[in-house]
Amino acid sequence: MIKVIVCGACGRMGREVIAKVRQTKEMELIGAIEAPAHPLIGKDIEGVEIREGLEEVVQPGAVIIEFTTPSATLAHLETAKREKIPMVIGTTGFKEGEYARIKEASRNIPILISPNMSIGINLLFKVVEKITKAIGNDFDKEIIEVHHRNKKDAPSGTARRIAQIIAKAEGEDLSRVGVYGRKGLGKGRSKKEIGIHAIRGGSVVGEHTVLFAGEGERLEITHRAESRQIFAQGAILGAKFISKQKKGLYDLQDALGIKTNV
Ligand code: NAP
Repeated sequence: MIKVIVCGACGRMGREVIAKVRQTKEMELIGAIEAPAHPLIGKDIEGVEIREGLEEVVQPGAVIIEFTTPSATLAHLETAKREKIPMVIGTTGFKEGEYARIKEASRNIPILISPNMSIGINLLFKVVEKITKAIGNDFDKEIIEVHHRNKKDAPSGTARRIAQIIAKAEGEDLSRVGVYGRKGLGKGRSKKEIGIHAIRGGSVVGEHTVLFAGEGERLEITHRAESRQIFAQGAILGAKFISKQKKGLYDLQDALGIKTNV
């Protein structure tokens, strides 16, 4: 039995994950963690008390599933490290240095981190890598993402990951070739640019389009998330996978066996 602790338990994703844990035979929900000032602290969710302190609920054999904020995730990471508990991190919006802390922690505990836990997007990662390598410099690459009005970080972690895959497949450094939105008068588009554009509005769960634009033709690959359940399902898959690892940094592609080579 995998004992699961969900951090961000009352959030949009936390609730979906808890529902999936409940439906998964080999899993048991042992902890539901929320922000200290959350109005539901002390209340019950699916038979488990919502608490603010991760330390109060961790126990050997547990796995943490985290969908919160970067600062909350890093605080929980310290507890996970101390208690040697594997973590599945769905939170997005980490800065370079913060990501380095997660990587460092994975020397001691197993961590699965993925900016997008859907199977479709992880297949898209693989396909984009292959197309980029095959298509060469004659096609311009642009990424357009659309999310609901409440999403805090922009561009999405998924869009950043797609841009990183394209840059690496082309032997480039994203910090040099990434262009985040455009405004004003410039020289036009350079061949190496990877454009990344974030649109926010309404209740859109998540949409990512990768555009390969050549002379006289355009190839577009779009993934549309129709419900958050797909991310929760991926997190469950990730938790099953990470519970069997000793230490190291993984992503959902490892769990699915479709790892990109960049
Ligand atoms: P959300 O609805 O705002 O949920 C986040 C929850 O975390 C909120 O209930 C928040 O409480 C809580 N929280 C904040 N600080 C906390 C702390 N210190 N301890 C415990 N809980 C804390 O956001 P969401 O839509 O669920 O998204 C959460 C994160 O997952 C975001 O980074 C989002 O981009 C990412 N995400 C990833 C995927 C993926 O597939 N990887 C998919 C969807 C979303 P308060 O409301 O009180 O602040």
